[in-house]
Parts: sequence; C-alpha cells; structure tokens
Amino acid sequence: METYQIISIIGVMIFIYFIFFRNKRSAQKEISNLNEIEYIGSSTMKFDDVAGNYEAKQSLLELVDFIQNPEKYNKFNVRMPKGILLYGEPGTGKTLMAKALAGEAGVPFYAVSGSDFVQVYAGLGAGRIRNLFKKAKKAGRSVIFIDEIDAIGKKRMAGNIKGSDEGDRTLNALLTEMSGFADDSGTVVVAATNRIDTLDNALLRPGRFDRQIEIMLPDKNARKDIIKLYLNKVNAEDVNIDELADLTVYFSGAMIENLINEAALSAIRQSSDKITEDHIKRAYLDVLAGVEKKDYDNGMQKTVTSYHEAGHAFISRYLLPENKIIRVSVIPTSKGAGGYTLSTPSSEEVMTKRKILNHLSVLMAGRVSEEIFFGNENITAGAQNDIEKATSLAVDYVSKYSMNDAAFINYQLLSDKLRIPLTSVENSVKKLTSEIYEEVYKLIESNKEKIEKIARLLMEKEVIYQDELDNLI
Ligand code: ADP
Ligand code: ZN
Repeated sequence: METYQIISIIGVMIFIYFIFFRNKRSAQKEISNLNEIEYIGSSTMKFDDVAGNYEAKQSLLELVDFIQNPEKYNKFNVRMPKGILLYGEPGTGKTLMAKALAGEAGVPFYAVSGSDFVQVYAGLGAGRIRNLFKKAKKAGRSVIFIDEIDAIGKKRMAGNIKGSDEGDRTLNALLTEMSGFADDSGTVVVAATNRIDTLDNALLRPGRFDRQIEIMLPDKNARKDIIKLYLNKVNAEDVNIDELADLTVYFSGAMIENLINEAALSAIRQSSDKITEDHIKRAYLDVLAGVEKKDYDNGMQKTVTSYHEAGHAFISRYLLPENKIIRVSVIPTSKGAGGYTLSTPSSEEVMTKRKILNHLSVLMAGRVSEEIFFGNENITAGAQNDIEKATSLAVDYVSKYSMNDAAFINYQLLSDKLRIPLTSVENSVKKLTSEIYEEVYKLIESNKEKIEKIARLLMEKEVIYQDELDNLI
C-alpha cells in the first residue's frame, strides 16, 4: 500500500476536539506508583501556584485554618467536611490544589490513585486503604489525596453483584476509614475525579465527600492568569497575553503550561535567550496540529489534501464565520495528518442546535469535496478522523441533547433503565448525518469554483491564512 493512502488527512477543529473528545484523553497521572502509597512529605506548593479556580481556592483556604486549628471548630461544634471532592476536566489543577492545601497548612501530603487499586488481588485494595489511613493518622494532621476516585468508587450496580466484589470491599474500607477518624484530627481527605456521574452515592453522603467542588476549564480571565503565571517563570518578551488567552479557549491549565514549556524548548533549540511570540505561535501549532514534516512527497497526496482542506475551510467560513481560521495547511504532520484546517471560536460558545449542525457540516466538507472533485471511487481514507468526530457529535446530538426530535429523552438513560438496545438512536444518527451530507454536497457543488481556487492556492503555497481565504471567497 502506498504511504499516501494511509496517511490520514484531518481538519483539526479545536472546538470539536476539546468539547467532545477531552473526556477521552486520560488525565495526566502524576501518581502511578503501584505498590506503595506515595508520601510526598511536606508539599511546597502554595495557593499562589494555582491561577484561576478562584472559588475552589477560596473554599480550600477555609480548610487551612481547620487543619491547623481543629479544636477551634470542635469547640463550637462546627462540623467541617472530612472529605472534599474536586471534580472536572483533567488538567485543571485538582492535584495541584490538594498539594497547595497541604503546603499552605504545612502538613504532610499523602497521595494515591484509584487506578492503582484496580485489579489487585483479593483484599489487597482494602488493605492498602487501611494502611494509607494508618500512616496518615500516625502523622497527625495531614492531607490525604485520592486521585481518580471513580476507579474505586463506581456506582454499585444492582444486577452486577459479582465482578465488583473486590471493588466494593475497597470502597467499604474507604468509607469505614473516613467515618473512623475523629472530627478534630486535622486530617482532610481530598479526592479528584473527571467523572462524578459514575460515583457511588455512598461516597457523597454527609461525613464522607460532602463538599463537592467543580473545577472548570479556565475562562478567559483565568487563562490570562495562568499564562502570566507561567510566562513569569520563563524569560518571555512581548507576548500578547490577551490574544493568547483567546487562542487558548477550551485549554486546561495543564495544556497552557505545556504550551509555554514547548515554546521555551523551541527557544532553547534556536539558542534564543528570550521566548517570543513566534516561539509561542510555533508551539501552538505543534501542540494542536503536530509538527510539520520537512521532507515529504509532493505528489497526488498534496492534490487530494488541498481539495479536502479547501472543503473544510470554505464551509467553515460559510457556516461558522464567527470562528477564526488560524491556518490551513497541506504539509503532512507528525500526527499522521496530510494537512489540517485549524480554526478556533473567539470565545466559549453557546451550543445551539444550529451550531452543532454547522460543525457537523464542516467536518463532512473534506470528504464531500474529495468526492465532488475526484469522484466517489477515488475518495481517500483521509476523512477517518473527521468521521470519528462527526459520529460522536451526531450521537450526542441525538441521544444526549435530544435535539433531533421533540421527545426530550436521554436515550442512553432510557436504554439503561429499560434494558433495550439503542437501535432508534442508530437510525436517527444515520438519517441525520446523511441529510447533512446531502446539504454539504449541494453547498460545495454550487460553490465549486471558489473551492477550486482555494485548493489551487493551497497547492501553490501549502499554507494559507484567513485573509487570503476571505479574498478568494
Ligand atoms: P488535574 O489533577 O486536575 O488533572 P493537575 O493538578 O495534575 O490537574 O495539573 C497538571 C499541571 O497543570 C499542574 O501541575 C500545573 O503545572 C498545571 N495546571 C493545571 N491547572 C492549573 C492552574 N489552575 N494554575 C496553574 N497551573 C495549573
Ligand atoms: Zn478532514
């Protein structure tokens, strides 16, 4: 098989990627020590190391005083939460905040990850939990951190008593230990999860993780603060923070930190003593779209990719004009794409039905363009990624958001509760996507010349930007 056939061509849509696929990316794991409880000692983190997350910081700040002076609270018969559950997207600083809590209070920090308890031998999980609490108790005041608590605290299914036996024992051990330590012990358990919906209710009851704090992706102000925090740590010059905050919509704190780190690395590679806007822009493209290849074949691949991306770019301008096209490229990247159309919304979007349909159209436009210009027999596998995203979005449209009909039903729930297969969703998704495909087909057909122009410009220049695109349209 020729390589160009298997290199996929994708249109990278930041919006689609982060809104609909971020759940699939697994959280960064800092703690993966399988056999031992990680004792971090005194954490040196402070709340100043956390940018954004203002409400959560406020809530945890109150606990610092409780950890340091538990008697004060006990005297007034005030019950402080024993457990705090931080939930939300990966990379938003949940671990960081637990460390900062320990750091501010000046107490030891014990950390485990729920995923370490999965598939351990019988009794081992429960034993490990008891061991963890024993150690913490011996230390006196402390912060115990349980990352990925969903791995031990999954909802117990009525019909599924077997299989989850060991998980139950671990969970029960945790619940027992949490009720076991005294209110004035000055120990606080912080747990984190990306999936609060899957947690067993027993975990959320009073006396357990009864304070639940959502940690959201940073909004623009928070992104500015995170950007400033990390730019201050490196030697940066003349970076437009406001613009960068716009470009990083839907980024987590971890992704912003990574972006600035990559920019610093590229500055070092170029023996530059300052990090400039250029380094950051380069890193931005590398992180989102992949590093562009230096040597590549300019043959048939480039022609098909040019028409494919021209389709994405045109429909994006046509149906989602409020989105900014950052770059359209037909240079293959290290992520296996033959090219990409990178676009970003100017700020967090309100997800209307119309918007979702338009996003679906943009995703289909690459394949449709190939089909129109090269014929149905000659379409390539380059739309693989687009198809994956479109399917996921269409399934959510039908089954989660109930936007397809007036039924107002979450089909996933319906099928779980009634134990019926989801064939009706499958049919609706097929109908929906083929209808949109038809519409996109008509749109591209009636704008063939414009798309042809974009494709030719892409073949000539390999990379084009929004203003060039708009000139042609
Ligand atoms: P989570 O536990 O929510 O998955 P982490 O706390 O592990 O996220 O975040 C990973 C890294 O990302 C942190 O160590 C830090 O460098 C950076 N980071 C994430 N969120 C923030 C934030 N709000 N402020 C500063 N740094 C952050
Ligand atoms: Zn594509």
